[in-house]
Amino acid sequence: MRLVIIGAPGAGKGTRAKRIANKYGMPHISTGDIIRAAIRDGTILGMKARGYVEKGELVPDDLIIELIENRLRESDCKDGFILDGFPRSLSQAKALDKLLTTADKLLTAVITVEVPVEEIITRIKNRLICGNCGKDYNIVTNPPPESMICPACGGEIYKRADDTDDTVRHRLSVYEKETALLTSYYKSKKILMKLDGLIPPDQAVEYIDAILKGKHE
Ligand code: AMP
Repeated sequence: MRLVIIGAPGAGKGTRAKRIANKYGMPHISTGDIIRAAIRDGTILGMKARGYVEKGELVPDDLIIELIENRLRESDCKDGFILDGFPRSLSQAKALDKLLTTADKLLTAVITVEVPVEEIITRIKNRLICGNCGKDYNIVTNPPPESMICPACGGEIYKRADDTDDTVRHRLSVYEKETALLTSYYKSKKILMKLDGLIPPDQAVEYIDAILKGKHE
């Protein structure tokens, strides 16, 4: 199964994508997580991407497409994957189509997570993340321990540098301008599945599973 999950920043793509990946035993590939790790480790990709991420801009296509091309070539992607945060623009969607068509492996479905904008702002305001394993926390609904050490991996829990009010507003406008176009693109290909982002993640996974089963029967 080859899936893509799209949605505004803070819509809960990552949480849902991780659960879907666990359910089907396939890799969860988050371009945001890969870029944050590259920035933290000071790699060439990280150095090139840092300024864009801090401003809430999209990292240039050539860097991202090369990253995805290399990642999808890895052996764990052979039987499927879920892409989270890629594609984020029409040009990236077309590049992905080209890659998958060449490998004769088309996308199974594209899930779009829909959440009202006020809820997005609240979620991002309260969001924290583990710098090591990427696990999400929320000050209100899933608070981290006082030590701010991730119980899952021992990493440090922090607030993302791009989760500030101004950057979030800018990321939302980039989403409206670039990423929202993807819904009509994938709708026309008849592979778009809408997911209500207010449904709790476990229920969301059951819902997606039921629809995907229907697609394969
Ligand atoms: P995310 O964790 O998905 O919210 O991504 C965080 C930041 O990483 C974004 O605001 C962009 O700066 C960058 N980024 C992640 N995925 C992409 C992508 N597909 N294209 C361009 N930039 C990206």
